[in-house]
Amino acid sequence: MPLKVLRGDITKVQVDAIVNAANKTLLGGGGVDGAIHRTAGPELLEECRTLGGCETGQAKITKGYRLPAKHVIHTVGPVWHGGKNNEEKLLTDCYNNSLALAKEHNLKSIAFPFISAGAYGYPKEQALKVAISTIKHFLEENEMEVYLVLFDEATFSMAEKMLK
Ligand code: ADP
Repeated sequence: MPLKVLRGDITKVQVDAIVNAANKTLLGGGGVDGAIHRTAGPELLEECRTLGGCETGQAKITKGYRLPAKHVIHTVGPVWHGGKNNEEKLLTDCYNNSLALAKEHNLKSIAFPFISAGAYGYPKEQALKVAISTIKHFLEENEMEVYLVLFDEATFSMAEKMLK
C-alpha cells in the first residue's frame, strides 16, 4: 500500500502503532507528546520511566494503553540548529528506526506525526521531504500500512501537492 497522508489528531488513529515525537527523557512534554500521554493515561508514563530515555534518531516501543493504537513507538527528532548539525540524517533515522521497530514486532500499520516540525523548529517543507522520501523508500521493499498524520490544513495541502 502506498503512503497515505491524513489530516487530524494522531491520538484517534486506530493502527498497530502510532509514533510519538518524544524528547530524550521519554517522560512526556508538549505538542503531540503531551496529547499522546493524556490520551494513553498514566500507565504510559510508568512504562516510559523504565526505558532510560532515548537518543536522538533512535526509537523505543511501549504499549498503547488507553489509545486506540496498540503500541506507541517513541522517537526523538533532532532540534533544528540551521541544518548543518546532522539534522537531515537524524530525522531520516527517526523514520527508519521506527519503521524497523514496527517490522521487528510484526506490526502491519503505523502512523507518524510530523516529527521535529513543531517545537523543534525543523523547516516544514524540508521535514516533509524527509518524511515522504524515507517512508516511500521503505515501502519499496516492505509491505506495511503507513500513514503520515498532519495536524494543520496548510501542512496537509503541502503534503498532498508533494505526493502528486
Ligand atoms: P517536535 O518537538 O518533534 O517538533 P511537536 O509535538 O512540537 O514535536 O510538533 C510536531 C507536529 O505535531 C507539529 O506539526 C504539530 O502541529 C503536530 N501535532 C500536535 N498535536 C498533534 C496531535 N494530537 N496529532 C497529530 N499531530 C499533532
